[in-house]
Amino acid sequence: MKPVLVSGIKPSGRLHVGNYLGALKQFAELQGSGKYECYFFIADLHAITEPQDPQELHKNILDLFASYLAAGIEPKKSVFFLQSLVPAHSEITWILNTITPMGDLRRMTQFKEKSASQDNENAGLFDYPVLMAGDVLLYDAQTIPVGNDQLQHLELARTLARKFNAHFGKTFVEPKGLLTKTPRVMSLKDPTKKMSKSQPEGCLFLDDEPDAIRAKIARAVTDSGSEVTYDPKKKPGLSNLMDIAAGLRGEGVEAVEKKFEGKSYAEFKKALGELVSAHFAEFRKKKKELLVKPDSLIKILNEGSAEARKVAEKKMAEVKKKVGLAL
Ligand code: ADP
Repeated sequence: MKPVLVSGIKPSGRLHVGNYLGALKQFAELQGSGKYECYFFIADLHAITEPQDPQELHKNILDLFASYLAAGIEPKKSVFFLQSLVPAHSEITWILNTITPMGDLRRMTQFKEKSASQDNENAGLFDYPVLMAGDVLLYDAQTIPVGNDQLQHLELARTLARKFNAHFGKTFVEPKGLLTKTPRVMSLKDPTKKMSKSQPEGCLFLDDEPDAIRAKIARAVTDSGSEVTYDPKKKPGLSNLMDIAAGLRGEGVEAVEKKFEGKSYAEFKKALGELVSAHFAEFRKKKKELLVKPDSLIKILNEGSAEARKVAEKKMAEVKKKVGLAL
C-alpha cells in the first residue's frame, strides 16, 4: 500500500501566495508523483475558530474547492472532502482531548497570536491543534505537506499518537511534515508577520487581477538600500519578495539575485508583478469556469466525503474499542 498523505486548508477567505508556495503547489506535485494515497480537505471546523459570517463561509467553501481544482489537483487521483461532513473528526478530538496536556496547548504560538488579535478567545481556538491531530491520525497519514506555521501543531499530533499507542496499544501512525522551499511567505504590509487570510491587507491573492497584483507589489514594504540582494535579516521586505519570485520560478534566490544584478527595486518589483500575474492567469480562468457550476463542485465534495467517512469511521471504531468505549 502507498503511504497516505493528508492536508487541509481553512475556507476562511481567498487563497494567497503563502498558501500556494507553502502548501497548494506541492499538493499538486505530490499527487502527480503517484507515490501517495492523497486526501485533501476543506477545514471548515478549523475556520469557525475565528468569527465567520455563515453565508460567507458557505461561499468560501466552494471558492476553496474551486481553487484546489484550478491549481491542478484532480478528484480522480485524490479524495477531496469537507471536514464537517466526516463526524469522526469531531469525535476523535474529544478522545484525544482527554490525553492532551493543557500546558502543551498553552505553548502554541498560533493560539497566543490569534487570541491576542481577536476578541473571542474561545475554547475551539485553544483546542485547534487537537482537532488537527485527529485530522491526520484518522487516516494513518505519514506525510503532511504544510507550511512552517503548522509544524508545532504537527509535533503535538506526533506526541498524541505516541501517547495513545503507549497507553492503549499500537493504533496510530506518527505523521511527518513535508515543507516546501518556501515554507513561510511574509505579509506584503509587514514582513515580520506571515501572510495570512486573517490579515487580508498583507495578502497577494491567487485570483487577484493583474492590475491589483501590480499595485500590491509596487506598494509592498521594502527596505532601505538599492541593490536586489537577499538578506532576510537586514532586508526582510525585499527578501520576502525575492522568495516569492524564486518559489514561482522554481529556482533558488541566487538566480533571482543574478537576474536583477545592477537593477533597481522598482525594476524588480515591476518584473515580479508580471511574473505573478502570468503565473496565475490559467488559475484565474479555470477557477472562474468552475465556480459557474457550483452543483458539480458540491457533488464531487459529497462523493469524496462519503469515501473519507468510510476510512475515518473504521479507525474511529478501532479507537473506541481500544479505549473501552465499544460494547
Ligand atoms: P491562513 O493562515 O492563511 O488562514 P491556513 O491555516 O488555511 O492559512 O493554511 C493552509 C496551508 O497553507 C497550511 O499548510 C499552512 O501551513 C500554509 N500557509 C499558510 N500561510 C502560509 C504562509 N504565509 N507561508 C507559507 N505557507 C503558509
